[in-house]
Amino acid sequence: MSWEENVRKVIPYTPGEQPKEQNIIKLNTNENPYEPAPGVRKMLAETDFADRLRKYPDPAATNLVKAISKAYNMPEDQIFVGVGSDDVLAMSYLAFFNSEKPVLFPDITYSFYDVWAEEFRVPYKTIPLDENFELDIDGFLQENGGVIIPNPNAPTGVLETIENMEKIVKNNPDSVVIIDEAYVDFGGVSALPLVEKYENLLVVQTFSKSRSMAGSRIGFAFGSKKLIKYLMDVKYSFNSYTMDQITIELGAAALADKAYFEETCSKIVETREWSKEQFIKLGFKFADSKSNFVFVTHETKAAKDIFEALKKQGIFVRYFNRPRIDNYLRITIGTRQEMEALFAFLKEYLG
Ligand code: PMP
Repeated sequence: MSWEENVRKVIPYTPGEQPKEQNIIKLNTNENPYEPAPGVRKMLAETDFADRLRKYPDPAATNLVKAISKAYNMPEDQIFVGVGSDDVLAMSYLAFFNSEKPVLFPDITYSFYDVWAEEFRVPYKTIPLDENFELDIDGFLQENGGVIIPNPNAPTGVLETIENMEKIVKNNPDSVVIIDEAYVDFGGVSALPLVEKYENLLVVQTFSKSRSMAGSRIGFAFGSKKLIKYLMDVKYSFNSYTMDQITIELGAAALADKAYFEETCSKIVETREWSKEQFIKLGFKFADSKSNFVFVTHETKAAKDIFEALKKQGIFVRYFNRPRIDNYLRITIGTRQEMEALFAFLKEYLG
């Protein structure tokens, strides 16, 4: 018997690379190529944050919750915030996925879902996507201990209809259904209005993509009062002060600028649609994406080879060595200029 037998062993999630070199075209972690809203920079310049660090942050992150409440027209007691949506989702697993029955999620999806399930000893079952990477809706209507689905899905970018998402929520009254809307602002339809109707629905979003604040780590969720209370209880039983005071204030400042948010999101959508045309011209195929990335496969060249050639060139994209998707690349939509550099190289490389 050794101490190691009692260790909780986990195979961790592998995040995309954060290269140290300068001059990288970074299209591998779905970050936003534009700066956060100008109010964020202004607040950083004008606020004496050093003095605030002496005290603990507000455990309820009240200023941020108030700003989310105003921006999304939802009552404050139906909002939960965390350190990135990863934190919100991990807390949600702890709070809601506590059954002997398996939690359901797609086979091709955010690769953190099975990691949390293993870590928290939650039984799970994956529901295969069809050959077009579409969800098998009926698969999510079988007996379960919870459901989690990203919409749009990652890494495919495929958007499911709101009618089908409602069907899943409505037909699972005995479990919590989590809809992970990390990419919803790039052309998706949010399930937020359904929160009024279904007590078992949690809608999770993030500042990391559409609000250009991956470095701040802000995630948030909407749900019924009851659901949010249960989530708070778990959070306060884990760490009261998860979000730092600077992040709370900067997040609130970002939300105040709706025009900037809409402008940067539509720039990304525009560049995405233009990029799709370029991918097609170069012999790539992809399911239609409504997110800030495109999941492409080439008709002749292996994804892994393209991935390595791009990397040598200082262009980082994401390659997953996983069943069904090991001949695909997930390419984040950068600025038009960054995408032009990507396509210039691909054109030459693919001949
Ligand atoms: N959900 C999905 C589907 C994602 O792709 C990501 C990004 N890795 C996250 C959640 C987590 O994002 P964050 O913790 O930065 O909010």
